Amino acid sequence: MTRDFSRDHRWLSINTATVRAQWPLDRIIDECAARGIRAISPWRDQVAQVGIGRVAERLRATGVELSGYCRGGMFPASTPEGRRAALDDNRRAIDDAKTLAAPCLVLVVGGLPGASNGKPEHKDIAAARRDVHDGIAATLEHARAAGMPLAIEPLHPMYAADRACINTLEQALDLCDALDPRRSGSLGVAVDVYHVWWDPKLEAQIARAGRDRLLAFHVCDWLVPTRDLLNDRGMMGDGVIDLRKIRGWVEAAGYDGYSEVEIFSSLDWWQRPGGVVLDTCIARHRSAV
Ligand code: ZN
Repeated sequence: MTRDFSRDHRWLSINTATVRAQWPLDRIIDECAARGIRAISPWRDQVAQVGIGRVAERLRATGVELSGYCRGGMFPASTPEGRRAALDDNRRAIDDAKTLAAPCLVLVVGGLPGASNGKPEHKDIAAARRDVHDGIAATLEHARAAGMPLAIEPLHPMYAADRACINTLEQALDLCDALDPRRSGSLGVAVDVYHVWWDPKLEAQIARAGRDRLLAFHVCDWLVPTRDLLNDRGMMGDGVIDLRKIRGWVEAAGYDGYSEVEIFSSLDWWQRPGGVVLDTCIARHRSAV
């Protein structure tokens, strides 16, 4: 039985990138709390801007909790120093996630080194994937010690070069099985409908993931046409993703956590008042998710 989201929004979380253009993170927390939104997933740059102490204080004062923390990852590098710097950065992300009592650290694993700056240092995507494997393996020790699960987020293949060379749920789960064969709970996946909705193996791979690998569920919509590869995500109900069907698969596999709205939208939602965006998220979460 898929949960009924139509009557309240108790399972709604807001990924704070959704209103990053309008407000700083402390204001976002207060605006969410005022609307009865119980959870957020903040980004590290937003936390750094306000200060982690202030963020922790607003979370305590409002009772808002985290559905995830964005983000670790970006493991591939073309030098040993680069790979070490990535591991150091992931350890800091784990510690901050712990401070904020996040249930998991989301990993955007990285693509070809340098590609995100427009200067790819090589063309060997297999090497990048080896770096991701080794980087997660090394990070997992610290994550286990801290009690902070890592959630690999497969990204749509259009981001394979510059953001993440893990592009399907199957690929992410293969990595989980290789690095955490005993399903210890310390490694799983974040299922973001924007990245995986098109995948013919999606239903089977969600079932394969099961409750102990499903650590986060992100929603938005795929607009037709999509005008920008990164920042033209749609509000739920405005695009072509069968959100309720996918949520049904995720819940059939045992997932019973938050459904996190994550919308990057420089052409539309980032230009509207933040209150309008949050109110629309609540309404669409009821009607379209
Ligand atoms: Zn996501």
